[in-house]
Amino acid sequence: MSEIAERYTAVQECIAAAAARAGRRPEDVTLVAVTKTWPLDVLLAAYEVGLRHFGENRAEELAEKRPALTAELGADCGVVWHQIGTLQSRKTDLVAEHADVFHALDRLKIARRLSRQLTENGRELPVFLEVNLSGEGSKSGFAADRWEERATQRNELRKVVETVSQLPGLRLRGLMTMAPWHVPDAEIRTVFRRTRELAAWLQSEAPQADVSQLSMGMTDDYEIAIEEGATHVRVGRALFGPRNR
Ligand SMILES: *Cc1c(COP(=O)(O)O)cnc(C)c1O
Repeated sequence: MSEIAERYTAVQECIAAAAARAGRRPEDVTLVAVTKTWPLDVLLAAYEVGLRHFGENRAEELAEKRPALTAELGADCGVVWHQIGTLQSRKTDLVAEHADVFHALDRLKIARRLSRQLTENGRELPVFLEVNLSGEGSKSGFAADRWEERATQRNELRKVVETVSQLPGLRLRGLMTMAPWHVPDAEIRTVFRRTRELAAWLQSEAPQADVSQLSMGMTDDYEIAIEEGATHVRVGRALFGPRNR
């Protein structure tokens, strides 16, 4: 068995175990294989073992790899491309053209630009709003570190949900978050649990919107994320090994 096949099997087993611990079904968790920095032959090997969701964090890399992989595998290969990294506004056109899902919508300016470009292209794009629950300045996302006690913060988030869910071309799906680095598991779990609770609150406040999905969890914390309700985990190193950059 190839190394990727072995690692994929191990990750699938961890996903199944975490889902079982939470009384969830493993098929309700989408594994996004984070292929950033890896060349095309690694993506082909990942496809070969059955992976179908690929995630890139740089829009230029997405715009390069998608057409290249499609040329190898054909347009009906069934690969779903996820832009998982935040976006500079001058690169929205790359995502409007090449992404099938966007996980890191963190500003209304980006939402409006994407909406316009998607409408021009006649495309629709499922999106996750990135929320910052840890309050770390290094993390992007709409501020949500004090949403439980600060009405201004959660009302701002509600307005964002209402605005984005009405923009043509964008299809709001839920929230995305990143756990803080180098903290105990309990703290990571709290961030994921609070994100799930925030999504539930937003859903009850904006019933016409869809805030039902949660993109959270990476190599070091995807099992905790699944226990706390993640519907999408974004996993790189556990599948492909350490990256050079
Ligand atoms: C790189 C990256 C991941 C995957 O990280 P690993 O630790 O390799 O699993 C997930 N999400 C985002 C936004 C990333 O940039």
